[in-house]
Amino acid sequence: MGLDWNNTKDSENELKDSETGFSYNKNEVYTVRIEDVGTGGEGIAKIDGYTLFVKDAVRGDLCEAKITKAHPKFAYTKLMNVIEPSPYRVEPACPVSRRCGGCKVMAASYEEQLRFKQNKVKNNIEKIGKVTDYEMNPIIGMDVPYHYRNKAQFPIGLDREGNLVSGFYAGRTHVIIPNEKCYLGVPENEEILGIIKAFMTEKQIQPYDEVTFKGLIRYVMIRKAFRTGEIMVCIVINGNKIPDCDELVERLQKVNGMTSISVSINLCNTNVIMGKLIEHVYGKKYITDYIEDLKFNISPKSFFQVNPLQTEKLYGKALEFAGLTGNETVWDLYCGIGSISLFLARSAKKVFGVEIISDAIRDARNNAKMNGIENVEFFVGKAEEILPQYYEKHGGYADVIVVDPPRKGCDTALLDTIVKMGPEKMVYVSCDSATLARDIKYMSENGYRLEKVQPVDMFPHTDAVEAVCLLRKQKQDDIIFNVI
Ligand code: SAH
Repeated sequence: MGLDWNNTKDSENELKDSETGFSYNKNEVYTVRIEDVGTGGEGIAKIDGYTLFVKDAVRGDLCEAKITKAHPKFAYTKLMNVIEPSPYRVEPACPVSRRCGGCKVMAASYEEQLRFKQNKVKNNIEKIGKVTDYEMNPIIGMDVPYHYRNKAQFPIGLDREGNLVSGFYAGRTHVIIPNEKCYLGVPENEEILGIIKAFMTEKQIQPYDEVTFKGLIRYVMIRKAFRTGEIMVCIVINGNKIPDCDELVERLQKVNGMTSISVSINLCNTNVIMGKLIEHVYGKKYITDYIEDLKFNISPKSFFQVNPLQTEKLYGKALEFAGLTGNETVWDLYCGIGSISLFLARSAKKVFGVEIISDAIRDARNNAKMNGIENVEFFVGKAEEILPQYYEKHGGYADVIVVDPPRKGCDTALLDTIVKMGPEKMVYVSCDSATLARDIKYMSENGYRLEKVQPVDMFPHTDAVEAVCLLRKQKQDDIIFNVI
């Protein structure tokens, strides 16, 4: 069956199925039962085999959905009404969760969220990765899945009535949904935003307007080190300075734990939050946090895992999968401030880290020194360029290669070099199971076997899921056996 896109005579909005003659009306409301969950956390329902994606619906809901955009094989719909709530449906803790769109699955119980994430990883690995024979461990969830984020970036703007607001952009838009009391963030966020907004009102400082490019204050980035309690605030501005900045600093200093205040100058009309220049206006240039007993200094622009509790579990699994005995040479690609590198260095002979952001590598080197770790070496640059160059020049040997790329996964040039270097193990830490699965497919076509997968819930209530995988180089005999 399929929809006949030429047969739209009856009305502009009507689509007719060429086989059954069943018509689907674009703006009509359909009553459907949600059967499954899509990769973005949306509900999935079927009408006569035709797929409806119902955003905000929970598996098991009987609901009314209105078609907003139709394609030949599926349609996007808006959830209009829940007629019979699913047993997995809960009242979301956050009253603006649906409008905000950050917590896409908050209306599902935490158990149901974990089930969805486990399945998402499994489906991607099996459908995209084309692997079925591997060990899938049960997802590691959180005991208390709230207030886990150590970092938040709040856009500042004006609402329709001209009031100063801060919050989050509604999904795929630049409309700010006022929300300072985010259930994923720390309570200090609200206090800090309150101080900054009161100051702006008093001094008549305008927020940045993305249409006119006028106004000063763009974003407020807040980071808290969970173990030490240290807080960092970085205010991103469209200008060179904040008027009466000393006064603002004096007020912010009073927040318990305030350790570092900086201003980031971003004069570009872009979606990138941070500007190139960071001016420190109070305290240290970084805050200090721990992962297990390792100490890390974190600068405003450096990447640091946002959920410190789950990070320990994630890194613990990466270490377990690496199976180090103290004699190994390890590469940690996409190493950020070297957190995984240092974590592994204690059990390895030598760790090489590669990261594209030079500030992060500066932090990584300092972090190594601060923790008295000497068997690490860091390189700045693209992993897909540094590793091949190193391999060409020095031959480059590795027992274990760890990768922890951003969402887009690894570049083929990098995977090719890994295959050439032939480490016994590759540990893949991923925040996007679709690109992970794509890369697993590539590695399995090139002599590696996926052994184990461990999903970890680093971002409860969102549709994102992290996973650590162990890939092992197959012995020549295994490959011949598998081909036969
Ligand atoms: N392993 C680190 C960081 C993981 S996030 C940790 O656990 O904290 C991914 C990192 O990859 C970011 O620090 C990002 O700056 C870096 N990155 C992005 N593209 C890269 C590339 N092509 N080569 C090297 N690093 C890159």
